[in-house]
This record gives sequence, C-alpha cells and structure tokens, in this order.
Amino acid sequence: MNTGISGDQELIECYVPMKTNHKTKPEPIQVKVNGVEIGGREVIIIAGPCAVENMKQLLETAVSVGKSHAKILRGGAFKPRTSPYTFQGLGEEGLKMLREISIETGLPVVTEVMDTRQIDVVCRYADMLQVGSRNMQNYPLLKEVGKTNKPVLLKRGMMATIEEFLLAAEYILNQGNEQVVLCERGIRTFETTTRNTLDLSAVPMLKHLSHLPVIVDPSHGTGLRWMVPAMAKAALAAGADGLIMEVHYKPEEALCDGQQSLDLNEFDQLMKDLRKVALAVDREIA
Ligand code: PEP
Ligand code: MN
Repeated sequence: MNTGISGDQELIECYVPMKTNHKTKPEPIQVKVNGVEIGGREVIIIAGPCAVENMKQLLETAVSVGKSHAKILRGGAFKPRTSPYTFQGLGEEGLKMLREISIETGLPVVTEVMDTRQIDVVCRYADMLQVGSRNMQNYPLLKEVGKTNKPVLLKRGMMATIEEFLLAAEYILNQGNEQVVLCERGIRTFETTTRNTLDLSAVPMLKHLSHLPVIVDPSHGTGLRWMVPAMAKAALAAGADGLIMEVHYKPEEALCDGQQSLDLNEFDQLMKDLRKVALAVDREIA
C-alpha cells in the first residue's frame, strides 16, 4: 500500500498488529462499548463534563445529552491537570457517580485512567477506559490496559506523530485487547489562538493506515466553545466515526474546562446540525 508519505514502508510494517501478523491492513473493526458500536455506519457521539463534580451536575448533564442522542457519557474522575493547584477530580467517589448515572440513564461511561495503579478501580465502574493525551506514551499503562477486557479510547499525544500514535495503539493490541478507538484531540503547534491545532487530516490518514475506529475531540482540539460546532461538523465530514465533546449544565461554573464546554442547548442544536452532516457523508446519528 502506498500512502504517499515518506518512510511509508517502515510505517506500514510497524503498524500492522504483530499479534495477528497481518501482512496487509486488516478489515476495519467495530469497537463495542456496552452495546454501543463505534466504527459502524452510525456516528457515535460521546458527551459529558470534563470532570465529574457532583451528582446534580452529572445527572442533569447526562439526562440532557442522552435526550439529544449522545450514546456514551464522558466524565473524568482522575484528572490530569496542568496545575497541581487546580481541581484534581473526585477519584473513586466520581467513578461511583458515573456508574450510578449510567444505570439511571442507560448510557455507558468512558473515563480516564492515568496510572497503572488505578486500572482495577476504574475497570470496576467504567465501560470504556480513556488513556489521555499526556499518557499516550506511558508504555507500562498501555500494556496494562491491553490486558483488560475493556474497550480503550486512546487519545493522540499532543506532540505525537501519526506513526507514534499508531505504535502506541499497538502496545495495547499486542497484549490481546483489540478493542481500541483512536482519538484526534489536537496537537501543539506554533499557533496560540486556539488551545491546540486540531489536525483533521489525521482522520483520513488514520483510517487509511489503520483498521481502528477514529473519533475527534473538538473541545480540547480548540479550547473554545464557539469553535466546537464548526470543527465537530468538519470532523464528521472528514470521515470520523464519532466525536467526544465536553458539555456542562452550567459551563460558567465548571471546575474544569468550562471555556470549551457547550451548554445543554448548544449541544442539542449541534446534534441537529450533525445529523445533517452525517447524512451528507452517508452516515447516520441514530
Ligand atoms: C479529557 O478528555 O478530559 C482530557 C484531559 O483530554 P486530553 O487527554 O486530550 O487532554
Ligand atoms: Mn477537559
């Protein structure tokens, strides 16, 4: 296969899952998150707050995004904050809230695991494990989540090339866990008007090189609430299998990332617009 990029042959050789020893790209797979399938014709929208803060915040947000047809609830209990002086997440208490709200709303939950020592407790409560941007090259963590039976949402490192991203995914696949979803969430460039530079060209490239579903995070990708709808629509047009977006019932009061969180009405309106984009690229939002 010719991707038209330099070092092409080497890249193709190394991304192929060693476990199955495929010589060519395997067929695209679907990743199942407690009944929700990512990578099929349906575009899957994951939504929820950056961080779990309390029951009221999580419940009101979850019920509303569910009504707007989000299929998976997000929410961090262990937060990788840049400053050690900001809210670090509720830990296991937050995980319990996620589980409770999941049962109440029927939405499966994805939440971040930052450390190998957190894997057991996160697996107890979550339907999908998120490995964040800052941990994309935490190889012991990748290997350990690769030994679990939970689907994994792997976010692109903020300084990672596509090749490094795919090789990070291979660490998980090689341990026997083939249920991995790739997430483009923006990379560091010289540009400072946005929080990150959302690399939407990664979507067709990752889908071209890999058999794994690809989703996009326009919240961290831009850092700006008003930019999220445009980039969310663009991501679906580029072929993304889904989106993960931060939504908060009161963004101005959020303990984390309020400036990039949509409020409930903005999210509902965006979902209506996304439905049209999905249809235009022969996909659907159910
Ligand atoms: C998140 O999704 O909550 C998060 C911290 O994202 P990232 O790892 O992409 O910064
Ligand atoms: Mn966030």
